Amino acid sequence: MPKRLVEVALPLPVQSAFTYRVPEAETLPERGARVVVPFGSRRVVGIVVGPASAAPGAALKDVSEVLDESPLVTPPLLDLAAWVSDYYLAPPGECYRLVLPPAGIRASRAVARLGDGAAAALGLADDPIVAALREGPLRVSTLAHRLGKDPTSRLQRLRASRAVVVEQDLQAPGFRQVRLAVLVDTAASARGPAQAEVLERLRQADGRQRVPDLLRDRPALRGALDRLVALGTVRLEEERSVRTPGVPAGATPPPPDPTEDQGRVLAPVLAAVARGQFATFLLHGITGSGKTEVYFRAAEAALDRGRGALILVPEIALTRFLVRAAVARFGDTVALVHSELSAGERHDQWWRIREGDSRIVVGARSAVFAPVADLGLVVVDEEHESSYKQDESPRYHGRDVAVMRAKLEGAVAVLGSATPSVESYANAIGGKYAHLRMPSRIGASGLPRVQVVDRREALKAGSDPILTPPLREALGLRLERREQTLLLLNRRGYATSLLCRECGDTASCPNCSVALTLHAGGRTALCHYCGHQAPAPRGCGVCQGEYLRLTGYGTEKVVEAVRAALPRARVERLDRDLASRRGAVEGVLAAFEAGETDILVGTQMIAKGHDFPRVTLVGVIDADVGLGFPDFRAAERTFQLLTQVAGRAGRSDLPGEVILQSHLPDHYALRLACQQDYEAFFEREMEFRRTMGYPPVTSLLNLVLRSRDPREGAAAAEALGRRLRDAAPGRFRVLGPARAPLARLRQEHRFQILLKGRRSAMRAAVRQALRDRYGEVRWPGVSVDVDPVSVM
Ligand code: ADP
Ligand code: ZN
Repeated sequence: MPKRLVEVALPLPVQSAFTYRVPEAETLPERGARVVVPFGSRRVVGIVVGPASAAPGAALKDVSEVLDESPLVTPPLLDLAAWVSDYYLAPPGECYRLVLPPAGIRASRAVARLGDGAAAALGLADDPIVAALREGPLRVSTLAHRLGKDPTSRLQRLRASRAVVVEQDLQAPGFRQVRLAVLVDTAASARGPAQAEVLERLRQADGRQRVPDLLRDRPALRGALDRLVALGTVRLEEERSVRTPGVPAGATPPPPDPTEDQGRVLAPVLAAVARGQFATFLLHGITGSGKTEVYFRAAEAALDRGRGALILVPEIALTRFLVRAAVARFGDTVALVHSELSAGERHDQWWRIREGDSRIVVGARSAVFAPVADLGLVVVDEEHESSYKQDESPRYHGRDVAVMRAKLEGAVAVLGSATPSVESYANAIGGKYAHLRMPSRIGASGLPRVQVVDRREALKAGSDPILTPPLREALGLRLERREQTLLLLNRRGYATSLLCRECGDTASCPNCSVALTLHAGGRTALCHYCGHQAPAPRGCGVCQGEYLRLTGYGTEKVVEAVRAALPRARVERLDRDLASRRGAVEGVLAAFEAGETDILVGTQMIAKGHDFPRVTLVGVIDADVGLGFPDFRAAERTFQLLTQVAGRAGRSDLPGEVILQSHLPDHYALRLACQQDYEAFFEREMEFRRTMGYPPVTSLLNLVLRSRDPREGAAAAEALGRRLRDAAPGRFRVLGPARAPLARLRQEHRFQILLKGRRSAMRAAVRQALRDRYGEVRWPGVSVDVDPVSVM
């Protein structure tokens, strides 16, 4: 008798999958199908990761329900999920979830039904899909199952001819519907001004309007609408609709002819796309060299061959230029996937992509898992950005996952940056990636002039610590000329700490071992790590002293200083404080782009891929901010940030100027950023990495154990450290355990063990240790970070 056993990954933070039996009455689910299984006293939805070979000793439980006859996504995506779980030592349940539809695990299903008479009229009666649908509508997954093979492309053709209609199954739970308000009684009279306004709005919309649109700018009308519904004057209907999230409008310029540089780098990329085989390119093009156009031409080539394309960006809101250009160029076939989408929008986008309505996906990190069928190209723009690394489990790196996905799909990966990560550059030099360069800027202005102001000298001469005289003067000049300025300070808030003048204590977070930052002009105290927020303390928590002093400064204070120095200037701020309000980032960027702002002050958020033609000055208030961090990537990050922000100046025909204020003007990261000399920086940085044994010379694996009880945490860390040392000889080094640099976070004590050496050996040892986790030692929470981007 055939064994009907399957391995099922459950949404639990455990390393292994569980074995279940499939009852005879159910079809044997394939890998990637969702099943409902009993777990303890609960029923949970899991994902079949494969057949189970042998039954473990204990009595097996039955699968309660098979939700999908066949998997919702293609084998390469399932392989990708399995790879992420294996490589990053992450729970399989969490990894499979990345590739499945987002809005609840039991989201809607795509259902196909016959179009109205079209099939017969078109002479398609013999088509197997049409034949299968004669009996009635079927789920697309069922069709795939019955016909033995994924019928997606055939289905697409039938849809194009309108022979088959595919729609979402509204019965399926998790599908958010849009409500439509319909005016029933056109002659009805209103009671009160609010009802009158609702009726007036509906009349203007010809008696029908979606409720969200009706109430968009006037949420207070909700009550009046409800009363009109109760009175029977207005009826609510369900309208099924796919929400296409706000795509920024803009004119559609014809695509430019490639420049010489673009033509040269495109030749091998287009050839690779045409071959349809895996290849990885590092596109190293300075800021303003025209990388976007290279991405787009490569994407067109993929589309021409009937394949899809994925363009990853660090953050959609900060990539307006690219996003807008993509929509202008490719129209409806672009799907935007990012964190500001509502659950419903996310869900719709997933299905649009899955059903082949979107062939090009532009999105942030998690879009690397978008269900684009037959992927031909993956682009990772600004590949050096650390935001590609997810900082919670599964701790994957979007860029590395993108390369792996390209490999599994037989696609071409293009990693683009003006300041490649040291890892990628080493891969390019080593021949693992093909190396493409675009060394010159488009347009006449060339690279901006860079001036370094030594703040030590300036302070001695009695200068304002925020705006030194050269920067102040340059700002004034821009105002006169009606040109714009970006001012970078990579530290948000008003003051960096609150110090007691009597005992010297610094106000710190009750949950974390970090100083509280002051915001809102010094009135609010905020922890940047756990989000704890409270009114700024009036007295010292230690000695009750009344005299507290604000020290250090952040972006808020810079805005204040600029307003004081240049009262006529229109100044705005862009940082994470703003990002919590939906649409606020876009608002500030749009105002700056429209010329309604003269000076934009911000954190690294202003340094990204913006293209503002009227910016001729970039000022860096304190270029040393990142250098003080005890992290092996401090110099790399600083070099990248300064080079990127400098690249924002003088992007049109107006020449650009950059002023860096620094205490450490001789530091190589600064000096070489000023000279925009990437190669020299890389050589210098590699020397440091070789000496210290840091990536890419060696691999890292970081373990952080967390516990509310410091003794329990320390003991567990010791035990884990010993176990790993026993497994280590000659293959990797075990550093620690030690208190993590961030010793306490969200009320948990943190202990760190850093492994350095051969990645495969480290992963094997940690995997084994985690398997034994429920053995003799009871371990508290442990987070595993393979290839950490930072060890702070
Ligand atoms: P990067 O991403 O490399 O910093 P962009 O892609 O933003 O550079 O391009 C810089 C500017 O050059 C943009 O304004 C873009 O519209 C323009 N540009 C790009 N390619 C061409 C071209 N072939 N001809 C004319 N202008 C171009
Ligand atoms: Zn905190």
